[in-house]
Amino acid sequence: MGTFSDEELGMNLRITRRDFLNGAALAIGTSLLPRSMMFGSADGSEPQNHPGYSPPKSTGLRGSHPGAFEVAHSLRDGTFWSQAGKAADTGEHYDLVVVGGGISGLSAAYFFRQAAGSQAKLLVLENHDDFGGHAKRNEFNVGGRTLLGFGGTFAIESTEPYTPAGKALIKDLGIEVSRFAQLHDTRLYSSLGLQPAIFFNKENFGADRLVKNPFSLWGDSDASPAARANLWKHFNADAPLNDKPKADLKRLYSLSDDLLPGLTDTEKKTRLAKMSYADYLTSLVKADPQVIEVLRPIIHAWYGVGIEAVPAQDAWGIGLPGFDGLELAPSPGPGMGRDAIRWNQEAKDYFFHFPDGNASVARLLVRNLIPAAIPGNTADDVVTAQVDYSKLDQTNSHVRIRLNSTAVRVRHLGEVSTAKEVEVSYVEQGKLCTVRAAHCVLACWNSMIPYLSTELPDKQAQAMASAEKVPLVYTNVVIRNWESWVKLAVDSIYAPAGYFSYYSLDMPVSIGKYQCTKRPDEPIVIHMQRVPCAPGLPARVQHRTGRANLYATTFEVFERNIRELLLRSLGAGGFDAARDIAAITVNRWPHGYAYHYNSLYDSFWMDGGPLPCVIARQPHGRVAIANADSDAFAYTHVAIEQAHRAIDDLGIQVRAA
Ligand SMILES: Cc1cc2nc3c(=O)[nH]c(=O)nc-3n(C[C@H](O)[C@H](O)[C@H](O)COP(=O)(O)OP(=O)(O)OC[C@H]3O[C@@H](n4cnc5c(N)ncnc54)[C@H](O)[C@@H]3O)c2cc1C
Repeated sequence: MGTFSDEELGMNLRITRRDFLNGAALAIGTSLLPRSMMFGSADGSEPQNHPGYSPPKSTGLRGSHPGAFEVAHSLRDGTFWSQAGKAADTGEHYDLVVVGGGISGLSAAYFFRQAAGSQAKLLVLENHDDFGGHAKRNEFNVGGRTLLGFGGTFAIESTEPYTPAGKALIKDLGIEVSRFAQLHDTRLYSSLGLQPAIFFNKENFGADRLVKNPFSLWGDSDASPAARANLWKHFNADAPLNDKPKADLKRLYSLSDDLLPGLTDTEKKTRLAKMSYADYLTSLVKADPQVIEVLRPIIHAWYGVGIEAVPAQDAWGIGLPGFDGLELAPSPGPGMGRDAIRWNQEAKDYFFHFPDGNASVARLLVRNLIPAAIPGNTADDVVTAQVDYSKLDQTNSHVRIRLNSTAVRVRHLGEVSTAKEVEVSYVEQGKLCTVRAAHCVLACWNSMIPYLSTELPDKQAQAMASAEKVPLVYTNVVIRNWESWVKLAVDSIYAPAGYFSYYSLDMPVSIGKYQCTKRPDEPIVIHMQRVPCAPGLPARVQHRTGRANLYATTFEVFERNIRELLLRSLGAGGFDAARDIAAITVNRWPHGYAYHYNSLYDSFWMDGGPLPCVIARQPHGRVAIANADSDAFAYTHVAIEQAHRAIDDLGIQVRAA
């Protein structure tokens, strides 16, 4: 850092909202936010009803944005109730209140209406300024052209097949997953000769160098053996690594030795479950330490930690190299994670990416629940449709979605076993309010729930509290053209020691009226991923450390790192950070993925003991639990399936729609 001046980086230009807001929010810390900070208005009306309200168009710090989390943190810190004042009873009664407007909460509302009928009255409370949770839309207007980016959930995809309920919902929303091949221009970048590359930085590898990537990051590869041999040749010539790690990397990617001879399939898998992939590479493959450094963040996108905290058995399941000679049967061993991406063709084929990721799924759910809020009637036209946020919370609507509203308490009115109603308290614009409902679904994060409900049995509350969240950052940067990428012949960059470990040109997908960028002289979205972790610590501790790091990082720090990394890796192609960057949206997710159980650290997962997520998701009186934490697996289909199960748990009597 510090190699370039502010002028060279473009830090002096005012392209985005820098973090005045972030600094102010952090300074306030755990106190109740003043109304103005909660996007409040002088007349007290809901911000979402104001003309021009459109969160996807906001740039700067998004994801967990300032104003979304302060009330929850104050509840966590025990400072909330002493300042809360008297609650205002809204007088509203619902059949169902859902806490959390992510895919799980919206799906819960959808399934409830399916069961209880379209006359059922529903309220969804969401603490962010937009619905969708992790399924977040970023929208940009550059030179009169609208560009979309995914600020969170990338795609309908999983390592497991969608369940019947999930598939039925996707179909009912009008999404034809099998159409994706027609919408995705798979040849665009390869027809221009673009390929994946690795960026080695000077601080860690001795020189800033962009080198064509000879190994496929995630197992699959289209390159012919001859093309791959050529890539290795160039890699050997260009990569700023010593000869031994270069040779070890090449050996690893073609290794056919059985490094655990004499053991049965189960014995091998058990051994692998108890050692990290980094240990496997060091102690069994005998790879040079630089190989570990090159591969450390290779599965950040799955685990949110480096390979030193990922079990070797899981690395084998995902398709990382070095295991062929073990000839393991393609079935999970004890304590194996669920991310065995290689084996399930049905899951692999069920893939669909909207230009704004699964935000389009959230928007289709909202259109299903409140048709007046989003014009159109197909999964194509939803991509360019503008949401009328003022229609989300109308008095005369059967379904209402109240944004900028943090639930702070859920309690039965009377004995849990006999109560007819629950009361839900929430804070909107600094004001404590209550509503009542016959049922409540908590589709928010498990770790939040013990703060909302003090009625849960201790064992369940402890199981809830043990749920971890994986912090990560998805950043969208709009550049005015991508000629530098073409000049350097790259379409994606893996940066093993970079502030962002992976970044790429947008996936070229055109749907309905939305046409992806096809010409290098046109603006395009670059997607950049950062996983803040602390190598050497257990996975959960790394996640907590990373979360604190994300809350403490200002937009300016993100921006400076973005500009510098792009300039250093693409400058040789003519990239100019001051001239070429048109907009930046940093989606930070301190509470990102649901934590996947890990055989290195979670003995219950290894032993087949009772899973905390199963203990946590038990219904309690009129309250049921949804959200992806309920199955400890960070996928959209899990959020949907857990919503389906939660509505079932409520034992709703089915009425005719
Ligand atoms: C960056 C990222 C990328 C991902 N990519 C993919 C992908 O490509 N494919 C895939 O299948 N899955 C992906 N996932 C996982 C997937 O997005 C999630 O599993 C799923 O969207 C979770 O939905 P949810 O409704 O359970 O939780 P969330 O989306 O987190 O929604 C819960 C909502 O509840 C709100 N909330 C919490 N507490 C309160 C409260 N007290 N009051 C009111 N509201 C509250 C939260 O703010 C949040 O908006 C990704 C996740 C992340 C973070």
